[in-house]
Amino acid sequence: MIVKKNPDEFQNYLSDSSNYKGTADAVYLPETESEMLELVKKFNSDKVKITISGNGTGLTGSRVPEGGVVISTEKLNKVIELNEGKKQLRVQPGMILKELQDYVEAKKLFYPPDPTERNCFIGATVATNSSGSRSFKYGSTRDYVIGIRVVLPLGDIISIERGKIFASSYTFSFSTEQETRHKIIIPQFDMPNTKNAAGFYCRENMDLIDLFIGSEGTLGIITEIKLKLLPLAEKIFSCVVFFDDEENALSFIDNARSITKFDGTGERKISARGLDYFDKRALDFLRPDYPAIPENSCAVWFEQELTANDDNLTEAWLKLINRHGADADKTWLAVGKKEQEKIKDFRHAISSKVNDVVARRGLRKVGTDVAVPEETFRFFYRWMVDLVGRNNMDYVVYGHFGDCHPHLNILPKDQDDFVKAKKIYSQICSEAVHRKGTVSAEHGIGKMKREYLLMMYGESVVRQMARLKIVLDPNGIMNIGNIFEEKYLHMCV
Ligand SMILES: Cc1cc2nc3c(=O)[nH]c(=O)nc-3n(C[C@H](O)[C@H](O)[C@H](O)COP(=O)(O)OP(=O)(O)OC[C@H]3O[C@@H](n4cnc5c(N)ncnc54)[C@H](O)[C@@H]3O)c2cc1C
Repeated sequence: MIVKKNPDEFQNYLSDSSNYKGTADAVYLPETESEMLELVKKFNSDKVKITISGNGTGLTGSRVPEGGVVISTEKLNKVIELNEGKKQLRVQPGMILKELQDYVEAKKLFYPPDPTERNCFIGATVATNSSGSRSFKYGSTRDYVIGIRVVLPLGDIISIERGKIFASSYTFSFSTEQETRHKIIIPQFDMPNTKNAAGFYCRENMDLIDLFIGSEGTLGIITEIKLKLLPLAEKIFSCVVFFDDEENALSFIDNARSITKFDGTGERKISARGLDYFDKRALDFLRPDYPAIPENSCAVWFEQELTANDDNLTEAWLKLINRHGADADKTWLAVGKKEQEKIKDFRHAISSKVNDVVARRGLRKVGTDVAVPEETFRFFYRWMVDLVGRNNMDYVVYGHFGDCHPHLNILPKDQDDFVKAKKIYSQICSEAVHRKGTVSAEHGIGKMKREYLLMMYGESVVRQMARLKIVLDPNGIMNIGNIFEEKYLHMCV
């Protein structure tokens, strides 16, 4: 096993794409599950804090260590088994998502979760329940995970198959492979009826696997994952439609969303698998790199799957585009794989450019990850943009508007601006909570959004989450600081 003890060798493990920075004493790179288990046993008995590292593309500081050691999953990066008949894949957690998707696509299979940045590890996407554009049609990572193996903080292993271990009301009792018996109480609260990645997933009579998915590494290290796959679509087309008028673009999205949900026939067969929006500011920000973007426009990106007999669907989309006042001649349409990759790069460019610009200013990005219920979305969006405009902040908006999930990114120029941006951000989270939405639809809470989880669920729920963790991690060693502050663990003992 490689161990890096010289800080010069492990600086790249001390931050993530949020520009949040930390410290550690060493970085360990186990190559097998048993090496991982031995490390956890040792650090648990020495009471040394462990932070688990994926590929560091997270946006909330969740893999950033605050002391102790880092355990990276990067050497556990292999396919274990593909069962083409059953459409199931078993993999190690350090496999890069893009490689996984390319691997199954070569076998005409499809793994839908699509968190824009595909240079992330599959284990981390399970730990954060990643989603992205395609969650509009296909849901989040949670919907595809049918089994996991986890090294728990006390140094034992549990193998969980979906559908096998359920809570009795709000209590789980289960045994590990080492015959340790655990009893944990599930926090009681209502999760929002939106896409959501804020805090633990908790429901009455829930499946144990769902507690670990999205728990941001606070409950254990995932060492193996079994995924459900789908058949690969015969063809898809990907489209960027430019609008002069924002209201028209938003109405187009509303219309496409409702037709997709209608699931009908003829024109009503339209079924977007992703429906994203870019406001005029986002396109102005990108235009130097993409001069073909029409002046003074905003845009909607969508993707549609086709079978051999579905060509009238292209017509149906064109009608919808015309009906909402966009010029079909200016639309970018990609049918071939190469052209679609270009559109993927275009979608990725906006978020990575925002991250780069803010990092170059030595600041951290202030970008929303809120989502609200559909019936309130348009009003909420107008309110949010108006708030930022009234405060004279520089910003861009893009995001998964099909899922009512806007990323409004404020671009602070200096520290004063950053402080102001944080206040506005807090107001936006508060309004989303007030409208029964979430403060994090996909990026998770990590270390940067803990105060907003408190805002969303209140202190009593956060204490219940801490109480659950301390049962599995009595020495408080694993991914400390993610989801809630360490002080909540001390309040439980
Ligand atoms: C440009 C850009 C766009 C993005 N767009 C999206 C998007 O659309 N949707 C979305 O959901 N996310 C998005 N992200 C965020 C990010 O890509 C995802 O959160 C991704 O899942 C992180 O993967 P990673 O390997 O980089 O994890 P890291 O950042 O290294 O870690 C993330 C978390 O997972 C934990 N972890 C890692 N491996 C394990 C394991 N084996 N067991 C337990 N815990 C583990 C870590 O401790 C940490 O808490 C974007 C990021 C960027 C930079």
